[in-house]
Amino acid sequence: MAEQQLQFQEKLHDGWAQTFGIKNVLFENKTEHQHLIIFESVSFGRVMALDGIIQTTERDEFIYHEMLAHVPLFAHGQAKDVLIIGGGDGGLLREVLKHESVSNATQVEIDQAVIDMCVEYLPNHSAGAYNNPRANIVIDDGIKYVQNCDKQFDVILSDSTDPIGPGEVLFTSPFYEGIKRCLKPGGIFAAQNGVGFMQQDEVTTTKSRLSPYFSDCHFYTAAVPTYVGGVMTFAWASDNHTARELPIAELEARYRSSGIKTRYYNPGVHNGSFALPQYIADSLN
Ligand code: SAM
Repeated sequence: MAEQQLQFQEKLHDGWAQTFGIKNVLFENKTEHQHLIIFESVSFGRVMALDGIIQTTERDEFIYHEMLAHVPLFAHGQAKDVLIIGGGDGGLLREVLKHESVSNATQVEIDQAVIDMCVEYLPNHSAGAYNNPRANIVIDDGIKYVQNCDKQFDVILSDSTDPIGPGEVLFTSPFYEGIKRCLKPGGIFAAQNGVGFMQQDEVTTTKSRLSPYFSDCHFYTAAVPTYVGGVMTFAWASDNHTARELPIAELEARYRSSGIKTRYYNPGVHNGSFALPQYIADSLN
């Protein structure tokens, strides 16, 4: 009798799910904040899920982390102080620190166990970023941090879970008010905002909650295979209206002079990512 293969089924959508074949479970436990599992999958390398929802896989994490880091940072062009909310796997911190202009990358992560287990079982995600002298790791709830911090940042990136459990507060008006107070004039905020086709109400809700604080609120997209259901959206907010519409020649120059090697991001993808599918554009008007 063929050995029954262990499987992980994601619990994000009612009546529809993606399933991963499991080779072996590397870690599984309830942390102080959420259920955490990291397993060796059959076809996506090592995979991490929180509260039953896929967070990141070794095979396709580069798409998400490159797009969340490089679109805002190349658009800004001279970011020194960057704030990351969430991002416990360290992939975003790794990409942010590739920008030499960034002298301080502060990461506020609520769950120390996610950092510890990802350093141990997903080492290629942070790839040493947590030991980088420019990285400053704070264990705290992101909403408390932005409501109380006395520093300001050029770019703020929210790499949170979905608005379920501890991540829920990171999609609220008080959080966005805190983002506004922690962003330098002309700064840029970008955030993970779910798969537009499957979580369309999260796109319109974010737009309505961000608009009172920023004059330019928009979204950009990328296709991340394990964020199932179509392109995923990133929220964008800034009072700098030119940042989102840089000429391609300027983006090309910044990309080339950075020397950063990417596998998904490039200036053409950057500009194209702001072109929204009509059903998303319609829901925002
Ligand atoms: N890339 C993933 C995605 O797109 O779904 C998310 C990456 S990362 C694993 C999400 C992180 O957000 C987790 O490490 C989780 O602990 C953290 N997180 C959730 N709620 C938080 C909060 N209120 N403050 C700070 N970090 C939070």
